[in-house]
Amino acid sequence: MKMKGKWTKFCPKCGKTTDELFESVCKECFTAGINLIDPEQMNVTISKCKHCGGYFKGKERTSIEDAVVDSVRKELKRKCSGKINELKIDLIAEEDRTRAVLNVRTEIKGVELEETGEIEVFFNTGLCETCNRIASGYYAGIVQIRADDRFPMEEEIALAEKIAYSVLDKSDFISKETTLKEGLDIYVSSIDCGRKISRGIVDRIGGSFSESSKLYGRKDGRNIYRVSFSVRLPEFKEGTVLRIGDKTISVVRMIKGKGIECVDVNTHERVLLRKQETKKLKFQ
Ligand SMILES: [Zn+2]
Ligand SMILES: [Zn+2]
Repeated sequence: MKMKGKWTKFCPKCGKTTDELFESVCKECFTAGINLIDPEQMNVTISKCKHCGGYFKGKERTSIEDAVVDSVRKELKRKCSGKINELKIDLIAEEDRTRAVLNVRTEIKGVELEETGEIEVFFNTGLCETCNRIASGYYAGIVQIRADDRFPMEEEIALAEKIAYSVLDKSDFISKETTLKEGLDIYVSSIDCGRKISRGIVDRIGGSFSESSKLYGRKDGRNIYRVSFSVRLPEFKEGTVLRIGDKTISVVRMIKGKGIECVDVNTHERVLLRKQETKKLKFQ
């Protein structure tokens, strides 16, 4: 009868002799007992805004891929103390559900493991912070677009609006626009956003802007201000050629409080445009 060596161990589960035991079983039995990707136990739920369709990690806007990777990592860490060497995720969006095929390489107690499996991705839908603020009509400032001794042209207003939307950051929004006979008011989500819009308009169309703040209230012991940005579009200079209806006119002078004196380029007839008529002017 052959004697077993003094230090020879055997696996109590499969009976195999082995030099190394992991949690008192052999390597094969140890790895066979690990089931990292268990669809029943993994909860991958992503925050999604039902209004803008954005995906979020906490308050931070992210892509669906990043949100899923983040959530899967957290779930894996919860199940095993080992380190995740590699994680590959393929998202499969179907009509009524989203599946994720996972491939994970981990190392637990020095043993390398690779596992592939599939889980379902769930969504927690609500309104994100930005959409919630839009819905409640929140604004921090107003950009007031006006012109000196005339009303802004419809073309200028359209251009100003286009500029306003083009400079918005992801977290900025326009909560309201009010058209007035003398111009346009744009209600914006942040003071910085109001400043960017005002500067953008002045850079493109000309004129100038100034800002003034008004105490609006207090929050968490701090004063909250609302800022008005007064954008003044430029006067028309003598010789500026514009169109109105089927006429082409040249500006002679601005008449304070009254309007613009012009001359018809073709007939040389004098044309006086009242303030409210200046809206209909068009660039050449
Ligand atoms: Zn074993
Ligand atoms: Zn949203």
